Amino acid sequence: MIVNMSEKATEDQIQHIIDRVREAGYQPHVTRGTERTIVAAVGSGRRHEIEALQVAPGVDNVVAIAQPFKLVSRQVKPERSIVRINGVAIGGAEVVVIAGPCSVESREQLLDTAHAVKRSGASMLRGGAYKPRTSPYDFQGLGVEALKILQDAHRETGLPVVTEVMSTEDIDLICEYVDMLQVGARNMQNFALLRRLATIKKPILLKRGPSATVKEWLLAAEYLLSGGNQQVVLCERGIKTFETEMRNTMDLAAIALARDLSHLPVIADPSHGTGKQSLIAAVSRAAVAVGADGLIIEVHPCPERALSDGPQSLDFAGFERVMQALTEPLRPTARTAWAAAEAS
Ligand code: PEP
Ligand code: MN
Repeated sequence: MIVNMSEKATEDQIQHIIDRVREAGYQPHVTRGTERTIVAAVGSGRRHEIEALQVAPGVDNVVAIAQPFKLVSRQVKPERSIVRINGVAIGGAEVVVIAGPCSVESREQLLDTAHAVKRSGASMLRGGAYKPRTSPYDFQGLGVEALKILQDAHRETGLPVVTEVMSTEDIDLICEYVDMLQVGARNMQNFALLRRLATIKKPILLKRGPSATVKEWLLAAEYLLSGGNQQVVLCERGIKTFETEMRNTMDLAAIALARDLSHLPVIADPSHGTGKQSLIAAVSRAAVAVGADGLIIEVHPCPERALSDGPQSLDFAGFERVMQALTEPLRPTARTAWAAAEAS
């Protein structure tokens, strides 16, 4: 349930509602907007006691929260959230580009990539230290060695770093080295991991599971917010469909829908979303057109030698072209740089 306070509600009246929500057995969550304050009653309590607040002083109205997710919903917080990651803001006016290799493979590979993506205009660096691989025989990541390399890359370039966390055991260690923790698609519904990440002070990049509905994705985010971590960025990375030409099917409409339903920033991952280098520019442009607050793109100094996800990784020149493509008008002529690059 949501108690919408009137624009003229006093602090005492707001506090009274907060107290009454608690007395009715719910957890009060207060959102102070520029115009009005909203008090959400979250959890399970005595609903009729909240409904009765209709007539309390300073209350405009009491409405039910239409969706099963509460704290992530725009009903509870109509204004968009901005997540700050060590100097970079996701969810504001700028489209934030996060770039880097799928996996950290060596110091040289990561530092070269970090400098190259920074030169091309990326604002954050990505790189996997612990890799969720389908086969146990594939490269599993360099672990703590990769974390140290990521930290060095941050020190050299100033780019904040995001890396994936797969297990609750690794959380404290990863937090020592990076600025943002990624929950990978395969772990979107690892509730033990989400509950633990809800208690940390670092922002979380929450990827959508390959077979998760938008509702399930937002409920996964609800675990983080309800446990105390408000710093959550959603990431659409493609879902499983009957299509076989692409690694996944990029669900562009889900980006728009997630932004409609939730105040959290939403970014797009065209690398995993398509699995193809050649589609990254077009799908990045499309994602921004439907409202994405940012992009996360895989870049490798030599994609043909990558230990993971080479076919979808751009080389430095390819990444530069994608960054250029993002500045060009939505209906390009045949002569624009990105169209020419696609054709070559
Ligand atoms: C990755 O970012 O390299 C990755 C494994 O992503 P996802 O969880 O979306 O597959
Ligand atoms: Mn990858």
